[in-house]
Order: sequence, then structure tokens, then C-alpha cells
Amino acid sequence: MKQKIKKNDTVKVMTGKNEGKTGRVIKFNLEKNQIYIESVNMVKKAIRPSNQNQKGGIIEIEAPIHISNVQLVCKKCGPTRIGFKTTDSKKIRICKKCGEEI
Ligand SMILES: [Zn+2]
Repeated sequence: MKQKIKKNDTVKVMTGKNEGKTGRVIKFNLEKNQIYIESVNMVKKAIRPSNQNQKGGIIEIEAPIHISNVQLVCKKCGPTRIGFKTTDSKKIRICKKCGEEI
């Protein structure tokens, strides 16, 4: 499968409990087709005291979202489907609505 979404892309969540939220992709889990979006789908996690964090406690971290639940955001059109176009030497991603490179 072609990889449509990359790190640092801005995506919008289209379904699920985080529907409508927009954020930047910070991490991938390619095996599971999941992505982590900055400040979206936060879950609380208890951590044990460690050298870095002497007290331990509760932290909030991003939980993964399946890649099929998000759409890439075009600066002009908003959430959109992605097409591919091959130019001289490389393959670029384009917005299917306006045709602009993303
Ligand atoms: Zn567009």
C-alpha cells in the first residue's frame, strides 16, 4: 500500500470519539497502520518512579488512531483524499479536490 500520510502532516480525525480534531502526525506504527497525532486521543497512563521521574505518577500520552480514520488536510480545501502524481524524478502527493501538491 502506498503511504499517504507522513510524519508532520496535518490530519483530521473523521470518525470515532476524536472526530473533528486536527493535529500533527508525530509517530507511526506501520505494522498496525496506526498513527499518533499530537494532543489527540490522549490517555492517562500511570508510570512507576524511575531515574527520570523520581515520583512516578500519572501522565497523559497520545494513543494511536487507525490510519483509515483520518484524512490529510489540504491548506485550501480542508480534509481531502490524496492522489499521486509522478513528476520528472519523484512522486508527489496531490489533493484530489484542487490538484495542488500537498
Ligand atoms: Zn485541495
